[in-house]
Amino acid sequence: MFCIKSKFYPIISIFFIYLCFNSTLYINYNPKTFEELNKNVNEYNKIPLRSSNGVEFSRYNLSVFFDEATSSVLGNLSVNYYNNDPVNFTQIPFHLFLSGMNYQSRMGYIEILNVTSLSQPRKSLDFTVDDASQLLWVNLTSQLAPNNRAFFEIEFYSVIPNGGLDRANSHGSDLLHSRIYKFTSFYPMPCVYDNYDEWNIDPYLHVGDPFYHDMAYYNLIIEAPNGMKITATGELKDKINKGSTTVYLFDPVHPVREVTFAGSRYYRIESTLFNGINISTYYIPKSDYIWETDALDYAVDVVKLFNSIFGLYPYSTLNIVEEYAPYLGMEYPAQVYVSEAIDQTDYPVLYKKLLLEKATVHEIAHQWWYNLVGFDEVDWGFLDEGLTCWSTDYYARHYYSNWFYFQSIRYYNRVREYYATEHLPSKVNQSAYDLINNNLNWVYLSYYKSPLIFEKIYRTLGEDNFLLGLKTFFEQYKFKIAMLSDLQLVFEDTVNRSLDWLFFPWFDNDYIPKYRFSTCRFDDYEYILTVVIEDQNEAINYYAYSQQVTLRIYNSQGTIIYEDYVWINSTTSFNISFGIKPYRVRLEYFSDVIAQLPQGSPSYIESLVNEEMDLIPGYDLTIIVMFCLLPLVYLKFKFSKKKSKI
Ligand SMILES: [Zn+2]
Repeated sequence: MFCIKSKFYPIISIFFIYLCFNSTLYINYNPKTFEELNKNVNEYNKIPLRSSNGVEFSRYNLSVFFDEATSSVLGNLSVNYYNNDPVNFTQIPFHLFLSGMNYQSRMGYIEILNVTSLSQPRKSLDFTVDDASQLLWVNLTSQLAPNNRAFFEIEFYSVIPNGGLDRANSHGSDLLHSRIYKFTSFYPMPCVYDNYDEWNIDPYLHVGDPFYHDMAYYNLIIEAPNGMKITATGELKDKINKGSTTVYLFDPVHPVREVTFAGSRYYRIESTLFNGINISTYYIPKSDYIWETDALDYAVDVVKLFNSIFGLYPYSTLNIVEEYAPYLGMEYPAQVYVSEAIDQTDYPVLYKKLLLEKATVHEIAHQWWYNLVGFDEVDWGFLDEGLTCWSTDYYARHYYSNWFYFQSIRYYNRVREYYATEHLPSKVNQSAYDLINNNLNWVYLSYYKSPLIFEKIYRTLGEDNFLLGLKTFFEQYKFKIAMLSDLQLVFEDTVNRSLDWLFFPWFDNDYIPKYRFSTCRFDDYEYILTVVIEDQNEAINYYAYSQQVTLRIYNSQGTIIYEDYVWINSTTSFNISFGIKPYRVRLEYFSDVIAQLPQGSPSYIESLVNEEMDLIPGYDLTIIVMFCLLPLVYLKFKFSKKKSKI
């Protein structure tokens, strides 16, 4: 039997505690292979099926009479609804979003006047309006089978919110020549049916851009007062003067997800023809000093670039229109809005122009990522925003050789800072409802973290592969609905290997990696430096991360004696031979690294060679040893006193 004398108990206890915490001594730290990383991907199977869009589309004729005095339209939506889903419908729902929007002096609303059949003799159809859910349900007279069509007509009266700053509004002053009428979501908008949500009947949400629409052919006919300059989705096919009013007929020719129009008596208009596209800007006089000439030039530059790298913009018109909004801009098919708020800032004119350029590029990029390739923006809004922000920064990279050009806050700084200060689980792959329920920051996730992840994928796959993947994705999914898994599959086909290890952790983990050196030891006999880097957040994430980080090793004079761009696959060890003992090792977090740093720390982590490692992140070995030792000394002292009394 092996016995230990009781006086050694405290020392042995401390040693065991040390071993428990400092497990790095005994765990084999071979990096995980990508196959291992792919094991935990059963979540993949939960990916929903999409709306089964085919090559046939619904057709809508939308006619409105615009009344300037009441900021309203009296409208008629002629519906030729094509059932492109594998189920029978007895009802079709339509969004009535206007009443959910912000207003100042009068809320917006859509009143349904009647719904009638188109076939003769025309009959009224039953319908119900659910004000709370902002929905119109049209009851069909017979079951609508897949690949069949239903025809009916909806008469409605819409009033846009007055004075508020939201997606639709009448705002500004006639006195100051600044009044604009912006009609968006102003008609009953058909809901999307998909195999995941069935009918997507979400009300207007104030988180993200909560829109999800199928492609359809539209004709938009607007009768407006003379003197009102009208700009809308589609090519102006005809213009008929009727005395005090003028009728405009717009036709996008190709399918679009929705239509919009704006009117102002004061718009200044500039136009140019580029590659068969009539590109126009509409802005109010007070914004001349920012918009004049430049806005149109930005628009041409962005179409030229994205046409060449993603695929052709198919419509014959593209309008960039000034609006009143609390954000920088908003996208609609063939017509995007850029906010007058840019003019309200105290920034120098050059910076206002930069904001105008950023907003113009961003909203036009949405033509590729939202309109042509569609997304369920309630469930996966981070996708189109992430791709659009990434595309905007690619424009900056292309024209200014500067990825940061539009990044007023650099993405990687914002993401590192977020995790260092807010400590909230913040995966990107979340719906608008998740964000609302978990009180998460939509702007942070969609406009900073999501494009940073696309940049990570771009740098990992290389520019040629990434751009080829996006071009293929665009070709495969234009006029359809796509999901993140579709994009991943296209990239996998491009590089001919699984990319679960790349997509799953970055999009589905709650936390980004938090690296530390758990071992940094030089063997004087073998002349080998052993470095072990572990991700302290691995246990609280679903998937292990893999990324390349610059590893630098210094001698005692501060000279770099080794530098490599190493893969850190989960916890990773390195054995490197040196003739003399290195002094210091460092992981450099350049802009390509997504990893958590302590708040306010520099952009690296480092360790001295042979320095004792932290046992627990943030706790010093000496403190832990003292913490364990002091009670034992106290007990030893106490018991020895009792014995002396006996
Ligand atoms: Zn956007």
